[in-house]
Amino acid sequence: MDNNNIWRKDFPILDQKVNDEDLVYLDNAATTQKPKEVISKVVNFYYSDYANVHRGVHTLAERSTEQFEAAREKVRKFINAKSAKEIIFTKGATNSLNLVAQSYGEQNIHEGDEIVISYMEHHSNLVPWQQLALKKKATLKYIELTKDGRLDMEDAKKKITDKTKIVSITQASNVLGVINPVKELAEMAHAHHATIVVDGAQSIPNMPVDVNDLDCDFFAFSGHKMMAEGGIGVLYGKQDLLEQMPPVEFGGEMIEFVNKFDSSWNELPWKFEAGTPNIAGAISLGYAIDYLESVGLDNIQKNTQAIVDYVLPKLLAIDDLIVYGPQDPVDHTGVISFNLKGLHPHDLATGLDMEGVAVRAGHHCAQPLMTYLGLKATARASFYLYNTIDDADKLVEAIKATKEFFK
Ligand code: PLP
Repeated sequence: MDNNNIWRKDFPILDQKVNDEDLVYLDNAATTQKPKEVISKVVNFYYSDYANVHRGVHTLAERSTEQFEAAREKVRKFINAKSAKEIIFTKGATNSLNLVAQSYGEQNIHEGDEIVISYMEHHSNLVPWQQLALKKKATLKYIELTKDGRLDMEDAKKKITDKTKIVSITQASNVLGVINPVKELAEMAHAHHATIVVDGAQSIPNMPVDVNDLDCDFFAFSGHKMMAEGGIGVLYGKQDLLEQMPPVEFGGEMIEFVNKFDSSWNELPWKFEAGTPNIAGAISLGYAIDYLESVGLDNIQKNTQAIVDYVLPKLLAIDDLIVYGPQDPVDHTGVISFNLKGLHPHDLATGLDMEGVAVRAGHHCAQPLMTYLGLKATARASFYLYNTIDDADKLVEAIKATKEFFK
């Protein structure tokens, strides 16, 4: 992969200077930039079609509803769900995972049951299960990591037992960049009659996802990490499970009928969509999917893989730079965490920003992982489809310059 990145021009925000340097945006694991096409289609929607969905009979309400439901169908096709009833629009991955914990978890977890997660989970796929376990007197178990930062599948075999009721695992780590074998984990979970929840926040922007093939019971993700607007996300759930689950929020489109002392619920997927949804957000997700499909997820993977192949050895060659996670660039989403010995990651990130390079520093909402690795924080660079080898070179040079500066 060279620097002739054909997609970069679609992202006007990248064409600017920061601290007198060309911007190099490497904070894609936190959120991705939006292509012109998505931005202008959302603006057009507001210019010509916006109204509240479902409840109106007027023309704008019909147009708005049609586009909102068309976006749901695009999501269904994109992840190969069997029915649009299985696609619940939420505020994001966090909201989706909390929904599963508060509805399915509340209903199915009892005292003495076990919930299995891993040490590499984002707080959003950890705290909802931790709180559920505390409330229900259930046990939360953590799958260990191997020395090079991959999921220890031997330990997974030991931790997932007949006591396990839920396994909830991220498909890709937001700190280590590794991709986890969730299809295998789904088989393991199902062999013990447990349910598997997959946190797809970091995987879906970077690789093809087929929920049918993975045979996961639930799959959660956010729009803003895959070039759509913020405040929109999806919970996929198998229809038979969703049918049995109670709603956790009440009012608006989730209602079928309200009596004075009881109520009945709308059918799927609306049963879980209380209140006015994020209409333009859902529509932007549909357009982001159009864009992702026009690029091709295999091309995104190839671009990222080429950059990781190129940059990882260069980072590993910098004296005093410690890279966390697998040092071989296999099965990588383009997220690389590192520290410079003797320098706080916030100082490192500030130094990089002075060179125009945007990275994140902190615990990345994964404090148990930081503790597991014996760390408080790291700097994190994350590459995406509009990044180039040139960006990778600038990262390496900026790290060297920051190292010199703080010497
Ligand atoms: N899970 C993972 C692996 C993430 O990286 C993130 C966000 O960084 C989330 C869940 C939560 O996503 P959101 O903040 O969009 O709800």
